[in-house]
Amino acid sequence: MRLVQYKCPSCGANVHVEEGKDRYFCSNCGAELHVDSGEVIVRHVDEAEVIRAKLEVDKEMQRRIEADKAGRSLRRLFIGLIIFVIASIILMRFE
Ligand SMILES: [Zn+2]
Repeated sequence: MRLVQYKCPSCGANVHVEEGKDRYFCSNCGAELHVDSGEVIVRHVDEAEVIRAKLEVDKEMQRRIEADKAGRSLRRLFIGLIIFVIASIILMRFE
């Protein structure tokens, strides 16, 4: 395995990469780097953006769970009401 030396376009540090590898991370600044026909491209991963996107998904999931819960308790209330009405009708008949 041959190591190729590239300069990280993000921080300027020298990074050694296995020849043929087209995706790696800078050991100095953590930037995601891509090698495209000998050219090093920074595909910077914005950690804050990743966390924000995850939180957005979590919030949406939470919202759906809450909506589902609300729908279920409403259904339960409705069923309870129907049972109450039926029971009342039956009881009235026996009076
Ligand atoms: Zn770097």
